[in-house]
Amino acid sequence: MSECIDPIVGKILAGWRYDISGLAPEMGGDYEEHFAACEHCRSRQRLHRTIDIALIALASVSAGLFLLAFGVIRHFGPRNAFWLEIAALIGFALSALIWLIVAVATPAPMAVVDVARIGARHVHDRLPAEIRERLPEELRLKITGS
Ligand SMILES: [Zn+2]
Repeated sequence: MSECIDPIVGKILAGWRYDISGLAPEMGGDYEEHFAACEHCRSRQRLHRTIDIALIALASVSAGLFLLAFGVIRHFGPRNAFWLEIAALIGFALSALIWLIVAVATPAPMAVVDVARIGARHVHDRLPAEIRERLPEELRLKITGS
């Protein structure tokens, strides 16, 4: 793997887990330049965002499974159903908590929003002009950003 071209900046970025989405634009400019120039930090940033999204996905799947387990126990009503139900609900609560922590502590939700926005822009660009004209001004601004 290539080395960071500016280890001091690289260290600062590592401390933020390569997340500069919370910085003011005038502050983030230098770091964006570094990302543009530095292959090392760019790949690290990608890795961290992938981890964030994987964690959220995992927590979602796990919450879903616990909820499913709860439903199955409810449906079949085995012996000790009460304690199994409690266990399933605790599992669900823990998964939801992890989901929340990841969502608050990382920029993963922003990454998802960005992907959604790019997707919306693609759809928007393909719409016939007369439909595009009819979109409310506010919505068009949100999608195209201009
Ligand atoms: Zn770097």
